[in-house]
Amino acid sequence: MIDFEEAQELVFCNCRKLSVTQIPVSKSLGYVLAESIRASTPLPRFDASAVDGFAVRSSDLVESSHSNETCLRLTGTLAAGDKRILKLNKGTTIRILTGAQIPAGADAVVMQEQVRIRKDIVSFSTPANAGDNIRFAGEEFKKGEIVLESGTLITPPVVAMLAIIGRQRVRVRRKPRVALIVTGNELQPPGTRLRRGKIYDSNTPALVAALQATGIDSVRTFRTHDTPRQIEQAFRKVLTDSDVVLSSGGVSVGSSDFVKDVLAELNVKSVFWRIAIKPGKPIYFGTKKKVLIFGLPGNPVAAQLGFQLLIKPAILRMMGMSSVAPLTLPAILTHDLRKKAGRMEFVRGILSTDDAGQITVRPARGQDSHMVGGLAKANCLIHFPKDQERISAGSKVRISLLNWGVL
Ligand code: AMP
Ligand code: MG
Repeated sequence: MIDFEEAQELVFCNCRKLSVTQIPVSKSLGYVLAESIRASTPLPRFDASAVDGFAVRSSDLVESSHSNETCLRLTGTLAAGDKRILKLNKGTTIRILTGAQIPAGADAVVMQEQVRIRKDIVSFSTPANAGDNIRFAGEEFKKGEIVLESGTLITPPVVAMLAIIGRQRVRVRRKPRVALIVTGNELQPPGTRLRRGKIYDSNTPALVAALQATGIDSVRTFRTHDTPRQIEQAFRKVLTDSDVVLSSGGVSVGSSDFVKDVLAELNVKSVFWRIAIKPGKPIYFGTKKKVLIFGLPGNPVAAQLGFQLLIKPAILRMMGMSSVAPLTLPAILTHDLRKKAGRMEFVRGILSTDDAGQITVRPARGQDSHMVGGLAKANCLIHFPKDQERISAGSKVRISLLNWGVL
């Protein structure tokens, strides 16, 4: 049995990055950049007004006050997108709208709400500072500067950034081809009439959903009985043309747990089996050439947490994402926790803030590996260290956010 950190490390060092392809930015959400993106021009591109107002020379308004308004003659209007180049002469002002280019000679914009207008005379009752309400060319990025690093997940603002610099296509890594094999004599699909001793297969829909939430939309799924023959047939179908193969069930020490034996038969190299964690102890990981094979336990909570803790980070790493570790933070525990030493426990928790604004965490009801209700309510995992047996209410614990999406 190995520690969780070692398991994570072994998975990571077996993840190879998938190949690079070019796709339209409009289809790129959820992919990971495989190139660093540089600004092809300064950003913003030109000096522009940040408000609707009046372009001025600040030197014209030095004396302005409520009792001594400065009157400037209005000589024109500039709107966003105008290509005319106007010049602002001493003693005059130009109406300028948000996003319009600053006219030559102007060094500030006064907001429309702060002036009085009569015909073509605009009165100013306060001085302006040079630079007021101007977005300066290059103030965010200089030409040639990196605006997005390779390895960045493409989110809506990343799409905005790509579009701002005019990109239509972008280089990303392809997503992995994933197959899922769900084993168990007791399983029937939801929607069928349950026979005696049977249960509904929740891992197929739940793991497909977990993959979808990670951006993997098409998954080949198979269900098998607990026979070496059926399990072997299913693995044979997918081992040559998948990047990641997941299985559910049959990976523990029971007499109908055949997954490991079958994988050994198929020359899958076992990297580890059993991690000192709860839930998820029997998790298996192996490789065959470049294919990663994860054997998840059938217990629905263990299967979901195994996916979140090991498989999702592996998939994101293969897609080229540079930082895949979930955010961990400290929180104050509201109830005592107990366990036996020897395995790290991921306690399903619910975060909130107390009256003093402290982040607190309460264990969700239903902590056994077959109890999905607690996991469905939880929004974080409390890390209960391997060799600790007790944590008292009021102590500080480490938690990681449970995020069913990518970030
Ligand atoms: P196993 O890992 O095959 O020993 O299964 C452990 C527990 O999880 C047993 O109680 C199984 O009935 C249950 N289980 C296995 N596969 C599934 C599944 N696909 N959906 C729901 N429960 C399952
Ligand atoms: Mg089973």
